[in-house]
Formats: sequence, structure tokens, C-alpha cells
Amino acid sequence: AKQERRGSFRFFEPAMDQLLLDRVVLEHELRAALANHELELHYQPLVSCSSGAIEGYEALIRWHHPRRGMVMPIDFIPLAEQTGLIVPIGEWAIRTACIEASKWPARQSIAVNVSPLQFRQSNLPEMVAEALLESGLPADRLEIEITEGVLISDTSDAILTLSALRAQGVRVSLDDFGTGYSSLSYLSSFAVDKIKIDRSFVRPLGQSEGAGLLVRTIIELGHHLGLTVVAEGVETPQQLAMIQGKGCDQVQGYLLGRPDRMEARPAVTGASPRG
Ligand code: C2E
Ligand code: CA
Ligand code: CA
Ligand code: CA
Repeated sequence: AKQERRGSFRFFEPAMDQLLLDRVVLEHELRAALANHELELHYQPLVSCSSGAIEGYEALIRWHHPRRGMVMPIDFIPLAEQTGLIVPIGEWAIRTACIEASKWPARQSIAVNVSPLQFRQSNLPEMVAEALLESGLPADRLEIEITEGVLISDTSDAILTLSALRAQGVRVSLDDFGTGYSSLSYLSSFAVDKIKIDRSFVRPLGQSEGAGLLVRTIIELGHHLGLTVVAEGVETPQQLAMIQGKGCDQVQGYLLGRPDRMEARPAVTGASPRG
């Protein structure tokens, strides 16, 4: 029997029991989702700040659950990460994104999110190389998005994986930049190509002077280090104008385009960031 300690979880309270059951069911269903082709990638445009052209898309996973409807990543990626299911799911995402992007105009790149557990798989660079080979997608059109969580543990392994990816010509972006507790130290110790300023910094733009100063400083820092800088979560014309005024390279957000299936997009888009 479980040792009872004060402050520890009591496993057999009805509410906890139900939570565990939900989790077990969800894990079982997620395991089947891949085989049943219930997963799908939606694509959100990354737009050039200066020209307004769509320079690429970020792949964002969706789960079409037979009973629950569309399940968003927040409701299954953490479970996938805890159970290890993120490894086959993430591999599916990379392979699928490369195949789909190989049909796009040659100037457009594809960005795929890679979770910490997936990044720690020692065969990740080989798997990426295979995905490029089988899709025919040139390596310089693939971007891998990682978060600081990837870099925190096993630092030396992370450096090896980063350099193996970049040696192939694949680019690496640091996602949600600024939200971790030591973003700045990662910039000097890890070779990445791009930083994505988290939307929590973009949201208050225009509301306080400090917010603008912070974003400007991040952009300048990135540029001093030779990195491409992207602003995430741009929702209003005011935010876009401020971001553009600070010399950011790319923007992403609902104002520029929501994540959607590629087929559902108009063949010709009015790509001007001023809409
Ligand atoms: P993320 O990588 O930071 O992706 C950006 C999230 O912000 C997406 O949520 C996107 O739909 C949302 N977003 C984009 N523009 C705006 C905006 O203007 N306003 C607001 N409020 N939100 C915006 P989504 O698609 O729900 O994905 C959530 C997270 O799930 C992603 O955050 C990423 O960490 C994870 N994820 C998604 N797909 C994958 C995947 O294939 N593999 C892995 N490992 N993680 C994934
Ligand atoms: Ca991302
Ligand atoms: Ca992000
Ligand atoms: Ca995020």
C-alpha cells in the first residue's frame, strides 16, 4: 500500500481517481491517434517585416479526436512528453512537414517544434536527414524550434545535437525567447540562428514605454549576435507598426494569419503586413 505522508497526494480520493482515469484513457487514445491518422498539421505564416512577403510557415499540430473534436496541443503535448509518445508524434510531424513544404514555393521555409524529450533522442539529426532526403526538401528550408527546456539538462549532448543539425544546413530557432529564467546566458553558449520573442512581450506594446524599450533591446541584442529576430503573437496593427519600427525581421500572429490547413488557404494572399 502507498505510504501515507502529510502533504502527499491521496490517490484514492474520487476526484484524483477520475483525473487518473481520464489520463489513462487519453494516453490510450493518443497512442491510437497516430495509427488512425487523427493528427494534422496546421500552418501559420511567418511574414517579412520589411516586404510583407510570407517567408515561411510554422507547423502546429492538431488532433482530430473522434468524440472530443479538435484537441489543441496544450491538451495533449504535455501528456505526450510525459509518456514518451512525443517521440513518434514528433517524428511524424517532422516527416509530414518536410513532405508538405517540398510542394511550396522554393523561397518558403517550414518551422517545426521539437520538444525536450524528442531533442534528447540521440538519433534526431539522422532522422531529420532522412526526412529531408525522402521529401527532397533542401535543408536550408527547414527550421527546428526549440525552447530553453531543451538546453537546461544534458548541456553537452544538446550542443552536439545542435551542431549536428546545423552542420546539415538546418536552422535552429530559440522559441518563446525571454520567458525562461536564463535566456541571455543561452544566447552566448548555444549556436542558434533565430530567436522568437515571446508574445508576452508583444502584448503590452503601446501600453507602456517600458514594453517598447524591452522589445527594442531584445531585437538589437539578437542583431548584434547575428541572429534573425521574430516577434510572436502580433494581433493588432499598432503592435505591428511598433515592431516594424524597431527593425524586427519577421512577424507572426493572428493579424498576419491564423494557423490553418494549407489547402484551406487562398492560393494568392494579400501578404502585406498592413493587411
Ligand atoms: P508555440 O510553439 O509557442 O506556438 C505558438 C502558439 O501561439 C500556437 O498555439 C499559435 O496558434 C499561437 N498563436 C499564434 N499567433 C497568435 C496570436 O496572435 N495570439 C495568440 N494568443 N496566440 C497565437 P498552438 O497551436 O495551440 O500551440 C501551442 C504550443 O504547442 C506551441 O507553442 C508548441 O509549444 C506546442 N506544439 C504545437 N505543435 C507542436 C509539435 O508538432 N510538436 C511539439 N513538440 N510541440 C508542438
Ligand atoms: Ca514554436
Ligand atoms: Ca512560441
Ligand atoms: Ca509557447
